[in-house]
Amino acid sequence: MTNVFIISAPSGSGKSTLVNEIRQTIPNLAFSISYTTRSPRGHEQDGKEYFFVSRQQFEEMIQNDDFLEYANVFGNYYGTARRFLAGAEEQGNDLLLDIDVQGAAQIKSKLPDAVSIFILPPNRSELEQRLRRRSQDSESVIQRRLYEASREIENYGKYDYILVNDRLADSVEALKAILLSQRLKRQDGTDVALSAMAEKYRLENVRHRLQPILQSFGKTAAGVK
Ligand code: ADP
Ligand code: 5GP
Repeated sequence: MTNVFIISAPSGSGKSTLVNEIRQTIPNLAFSISYTTRSPRGHEQDGKEYFFVSRQQFEEMIQNDDFLEYANVFGNYYGTARRFLAGAEEQGNDLLLDIDVQGAAQIKSKLPDAVSIFILPPNRSELEQRLRRRSQDSESVIQRRLYEASREIENYGKYDYILVNDRLADSVEALKAILLSQRLKRQDGTDVALSAMAEKYRLENVRHRLQPILQSFGKTAAGVK
């Protein structure tokens, strides 16, 4: 049975870094390559990071019911093709989806057993430093990403697991524990140490640590200040 894992995060939190690490260490984990109407950035290649399509092509795919979910993110369409799930099922793989909050909600309503993980930066100033260190964006784009991040993090409460990406090595181990313990659970197996580690990152077990992070973005746990 295919496990579906959803990962969402504000831009700059380290999601791509984490996903790349995890894909190299966990076997039988397929990655869904989304379709998007946005233009390629930097070294992005069609069919690698995304399938880059026109608005018309995307809308035809919507008409054909080709998408498991799709959403409009910052003015562009993004969608997960059904064939990635079908492919993972055929090959006996689990499937990892890197999608936004709206997509995560759609997947959860269609596939209630999907496991969702939200990645947070340790605080706003660290996020800002990471965005600058990545040196991919102009100052205005960095400011927009910081603003968007503060809105996106309000959705953390909709996810099963929360990972504060402080030390990268710890985050990789945590993500591995979440994925592998879920995989074992669905196979009626257990690994006590692995499950205990994954449990530490469950929403209800992390809530108390989130207040300072939310505050650094000018938020309170109850919502916007
Ligand atoms: P995202 O995919 O969430 O937009 P990236 O994976 O591109 O973010 O990471 C943003 C920047 O932060 C990159 O320069 C990356 O090397 C760095 N980074 C990622 N994780 C960490 C971490 N735990 N500690 C310090 N820097 C990190
Ligand atoms: P970017 O343009 O920076 O690559 O991605 C912008 C946002 O779109 C990110 O939050 C990313 O997770 C999200 N995204 C990427 N692919 C999909 C998808 O197929 N569906 C949805 N709903 N969001 C996606």
